[in-house]
Amino acid sequence: MIDPVSALSNILGAKGWLSGSDVEPYRWDWLRRYGAVPLGVARPANTQEVARVVEICREAGVAMVPQGGNTGLCGGAVAHESGAVILSLSRMTAMEKPDLASGSIIVEAGVVLSTLHEALEPHGLIFPMHLGAEGSARIGGLIGTNAGGSHALRYGMMQDLVLGLEVVLADGTVWNGLRSVQKDNAGYQLRKLFCGSEGTLGIVTRAVLKLYPAPKQRTTALLTFADCGAAVAFGTYLRGEAGEFLSGLEFFSDFGLKLVLKHLAELSFPLETRGGAHLLAELASSSARVPLDEILTAALEWGMEQELVIDGALAMSDAQRAHFWHLREEQPEGQRLEGQQLKHDISVPPGKIAEFIEAGEDICSKILPGVRTNPFGHLGDGNIHYNLSPPEGQSDFADKALELGQALAALATEMGGSFAAEHGLGRSKIVLADTNRSPVERNLMAVVKDALDPSGLMNPGVLISSFRQRKTFQ
Ligand SMILES: Cc1cc2nc3c(=O)[nH]c(=O)nc-3n(C[C@H](O)[C@H](O)[C@H](O)COP(=O)(O)OP(=O)(O)OC[C@H]3O[C@@H](n4cnc5c(N)ncnc54)[C@H](O)[C@@H]3O)c2cc1C
Repeated sequence: MIDPVSALSNILGAKGWLSGSDVEPYRWDWLRRYGAVPLGVARPANTQEVARVVEICREAGVAMVPQGGNTGLCGGAVAHESGAVILSLSRMTAMEKPDLASGSIIVEAGVVLSTLHEALEPHGLIFPMHLGAEGSARIGGLIGTNAGGSHALRYGMMQDLVLGLEVVLADGTVWNGLRSVQKDNAGYQLRKLFCGSEGTLGIVTRAVLKLYPAPKQRTTALLTFADCGAAVAFGTYLRGEAGEFLSGLEFFSDFGLKLVLKHLAELSFPLETRGGAHLLAELASSSARVPLDEILTAALEWGMEQELVIDGALAMSDAQRAHFWHLREEQPEGQRLEGQQLKHDISVPPGKIAEFIEAGEDICSKILPGVRTNPFGHLGDGNIHYNLSPPEGQSDFADKALELGQALAALATEMGGSFAAEHGLGRSKIVLADTNRSPVERNLMAVVKDALDPSGLMNPGVLISSFRQRKTFQ
């Protein structure tokens, strides 16, 4: 039997194999809910080394946990049982030159999202994936979770932005699917299968990403409404008026705003009036000829005439635009600084957002009277981060976590939505998937998992439980 520690340290060297106290920075998940001591952290420098790591782990029967920026919110990027190898892609950060003619770029899986944004700037191109963790999240992790973010409304999720992939499969074979074409119907859409597979089917090592021309102009408004229903009605109208130019439609509640203003002293709310819900709307175009200001101003006037918009302002400078975005992006931080919280990543058809929020509030306060709900997120695509803080004066509510999570998941399911909109299932949401999705769907996933990872060593306990993994589709 192979000794995995000496085999891995031999092929990876001191830079590529970490053990003992050196594993600590990789050990805990973002929310510090999971963090078993791994056997070690493998940091391969290229695809061939990833393949060797996989072969060694397979031979030794050691579980592998791929890790990107470790900003995932469902505990999928760290070990839950000791003895696994964390396979960090953090040394694989090479980027090729963008291919201007085809609008694409080949990057390694360890590239940090904000680094990619900066590298594209001089070329007048963008990779239109934006999220609060973009300074840490890496391409492999974004693909692993099929990340969404604030521009998914216009550009889609990660699966829509990946043209091709290179993946090290569970037996160490390298699948090279690095094609830069939009149209490729030569069989199953394998690249999409790996988007959102959370490291359970293989390890993404390189990707061909789709690029867009950088906007030549943007216009951004911050608006306030009496309630979320009014914000949804305005959002529906704006979508019709702005069409393909609508690139962001983000909302947050007045409770969320209060937390941000309480805990982040550098932020202020620029409008004179404050309603119960706030909306950030952004239009962008890569042509300078489109009258974006006119479109947004006319929509705003309509919103005021209809008595939907209570107050609003257009950003007059880049600094003001950044300030508006901070108010939205700091929502998770404001709530984190308030203390304990329960996070729920829900999606419903956009027209049902207000209905979900109202029904959710009702359900949650029956389970835990006084619980404080903080819905915020991506109004344009129906994605609500329905986060909860404990009742005022109460520091902990972990004993209610499962009941609240199950109730909200059931509500989203009933309304034709999802309880795992953009963060994936990881370890923390398998129970919700097992209870809210049909056995047919769960078993179908188990069949895929078994086929691609027969020994069950690729991120075990993530996305699919070991129990499900053994069951066959009936
Ligand atoms: C403040 C904050 C804001 C956020 N906002 C958003 C948001 O708006 N939208 C959104 O979608 N998410 C958001 N997230 C969640 C998180 O940033 C995303 O899930 C992101 O895609 C994770 O990237 P990562 O590199 O950190 O992945 P990790 O956390 O390292 O890994 C995530 C999953 O992918 C797997 N994985 C990692 N690398 C690979 C690889 N190379 N091959 C195969 N599998 C791999 C891991 O095993 C794990 O299961 C936010 C998180 C934070 C902390």
